[in-house]
Amino acid sequence: MNVWFRIPLWQRVIAALVLGIIVGYLWGPGAASIKIIGDIFIAFIKMLVVPLIFFSLVAGVASIGDLRKLGSVGWRAMLLFVVTGQMAVWMGLGIGTLTQPGAGIDGASMALDQTALERAQERRETAQSFEQMLLEVVPSSPVQVMADVNVLPLIVFSLLIGIGILMAKEEGEPVLRIFDSGSVVMQKVTMVVMELTPFGVFALMAWVAGTLGMDALKALGQLVFLNYLGCFLIIGLIYAGMIKLFARVPVIDFFRGIVDAMAVSYSTASSNATLPVTLRCAERNLGVSNSVASFVIALGATINMNGTAMYLGLATLFGAQAFGVDLNWGDYFTISILGTLGAIGAAGIPGSGLIMMVLVFGAVGVPLETIALVAGIDRIMDMMRTTTNITGDAAVAVTVASLTGELDRAELISADDV
Ligand code: ASP
Repeated sequence: MNVWFRIPLWQRVIAALVLGIIVGYLWGPGAASIKIIGDIFIAFIKMLVVPLIFFSLVAGVASIGDLRKLGSVGWRAMLLFVVTGQMAVWMGLGIGTLTQPGAGIDGASMALDQTALERAQERRETAQSFEQMLLEVVPSSPVQVMADVNVLPLIVFSLLIGIGILMAKEEGEPVLRIFDSGSVVMQKVTMVVMELTPFGVFALMAWVAGTLGMDALKALGQLVFLNYLGCFLIIGLIYAGMIKLFARVPVIDFFRGIVDAMAVSYSTASSNATLPVTLRCAERNLGVSNSVASFVIALGATINMNGTAMYLGLATLFGAQAFGVDLNWGDYFTISILGTLGAIGAAGIPGSGLIMMVLVFGAVGVPLETIALVAGIDRIMDMMRTTTNITGDAAVAVTVASLTGELDRAELISADDV
């Protein structure tokens, strides 16, 4: 038992992935009989959606500490979070449209029934009209919203509660403590659920390899590649551009300064777990003042997730292509908004990007079964998404610090120092 836990989770997941593929390949369609293990894993993940978003988002917003902080630093950071988030989703949509990674999968032949598609279509129809969507965003009955796992109004509700706590100042403190502690508890619960990942991944990969064969594996491999490509483009184009043009910091120095945090985020797949390292890198190596770093990076770890936003766009197209769902421009627009919101709602812990798919898929009629399809390879993609996410937090912190005169350029690690 001890030996099992001594192996890092991500290594166990990769081993399960490889083993699952081999077993599925040898077993053939019969491997569908162990899909139930994967379904149980996904059901556990779904269980986390509501409490995780609720606690983590409220605690994240309340961590601002003081509404006045939302002044010069806050609006700049928020603007950069949203603009880069939008660029990231469109990057995912662009890549997914050009390369069609899901086209290689014949979703119809999956051991699933036709009802999967019908159910998805129904969901799309009920969420269709714009007016209805606007109305849906309002959490008219918060309890109902939670019972229905209706993510969008849940995000709105959580943001409002966070703002309410800030406005209540000292009197809001007991409630704040509940949310802070609730958020830590939910992260622990998620860690427990994530321990099931190797088993879920094994079963899901065996099922995919056994029933859909090599074509599906090729398509999944392509999805992994595109996920990395999208992340590299975000880091290399969007962040590097922002650092150079707005922060006026040498790009190479920025990456030199943040490399420790990038390494930690890649191995932990958790923005939250990396938070202390990101903070230290931003302050010590990049010269960001403590007040800007603690505000932008702590908030960013919860709501600024461009790797996740890009992936939500890409994965939605993957599912649509696999199941033959036609998407129009209106759908792309919906995905771009929900992808950004999903990235805001996702907690900075492993696998939360996968959880947020429920939000985007439901709105555009992509079957939720896509989650089962991609869950087996999520961890490998999550690692790179997380690295992209935390690099974005640091990039925004440096840029905002530079724009508000809170950047100590003398502190900046430079190529000559090393
Ligand atoms: N694991 C990511 C993070 O912590 C979120 C995701 O799953 O995309 O930033």
